[in-house]
Amino acid sequence: MAKLRYRLTSWKLIPRSLNGSALRRAAGGFLPIQARCASECEPGLRHSLARRACIRSCLRKSPSSARLTSVETPLTYCFGAHMSIAGGLHLAAERAGELGCDCVQIFTKNNNQWNCKPITSAEATQFRETVAKLKLQSAIAHTSYLINLASPDDLLWRKSIDALVVEWQRAEQLELSGLVLHPGAHMTSTPEEGIARIIEAVRKAVNVTQPKMCRLLLENTAGQGSALGWQFDQLGKLLRGIDLPSHVGTCFDTCHAFAAGYDFRTASGLKSMLKTFDEQVGLQHLYAIHINDSKKGCGSRVDRHEHIGHGEIGEQGLTLFLKAKHIKSLPMFLETEKGIDEASGQEWDAINLSALRKLVGRQEQ
Ligand SMILES: [Zn+2]
Ligand SMILES: [Zn+2]
Repeated sequence: MAKLRYRLTSWKLIPRSLNGSALRRAAGGFLPIQARCASECEPGLRHSLARRACIRSCLRKSPSSARLTSVETPLTYCFGAHMSIAGGLHLAAERAGELGCDCVQIFTKNNNQWNCKPITSAEATQFRETVAKLKLQSAIAHTSYLINLASPDDLLWRKSIDALVVEWQRAEQLELSGLVLHPGAHMTSTPEEGIARIIEAVRKAVNVTQPKMCRLLLENTAGQGSALGWQFDQLGKLLRGIDLPSHVGTCFDTCHAFAAGYDFRTASGLKSMLKTFDEQVGLQHLYAIHINDSKKGCGSRVDRHEHIGHGEIGEQGLTLFLKAKHIKSLPMFLETEKGIDEASGQEWDAINLSALRKLVGRQEQ
């Protein structure tokens, strides 16, 4: 079972020239989730735990300038929303900050177009600095809806891989921790063929991208049309087939799971759903939550997000989910409709955020 008690929050300076147990002690008794050395590697390059050896060798080679920083997490809820990048990438973070979000999700480009302009280093820096300034604990991106890694059409399949690589590189440039992807739709082929295509495509994309810190997160879907990943078993097959856990994990969407037929509105239903997820996918591979209510019923396989507490899952179902042991320490992102609620004159994002905080018994900040 995964240890989800820690979440990436901030960088901590650790004295130079440490190794072994001293390093561990300095990191607060447990191993750092991620670490960065500022000497040997290009600025901003972060090492995952698996590369501790490299960090140590960097420290040895250049002890005077090397800095190792580690990260710890408090066990408070982390609520945020998908935000528009209209006018500039950093404005998404500004908008999240104004709403009182703890985390933010963005599209790094127009999600309905294949092409995009490169992100300049000034834009990337401004985005990263805004995220840091506003103390957003997690920043992730969602990929374009045009990408279909399960496509039986070779041309579209290759185009999708190229597009994923571009998006993954952009996410790395912005130092995002996750990039959410709908696995794909098998169209005229079979689910098995679709799954094999996705596995091959993701492995190709990892090879080209060589991601350093951003993990690709395959999202469970509602199962509309021939969309794959609505059954946890399919997600599990994908993760096991890709077999690159340090580069690929999952994101769980409450609306999608419910529409796909997982009824978690009761304590026993929730328990059985999480058990199934753990057995078929593995809770240790879960890195983000899309927290949405559902307009459509359980098993409808229709993907329509609803405001928190206004849909078929409802307040009780969402409260149970939010308080579940392996869920509550994960960053949660709203993907509900934007706009103003006519009755209260308030922005829907603000209403949904305060609804979430109320459900977990935390006063509005
Ligand atoms: Zn989602
Ligand atoms: Zn959806």
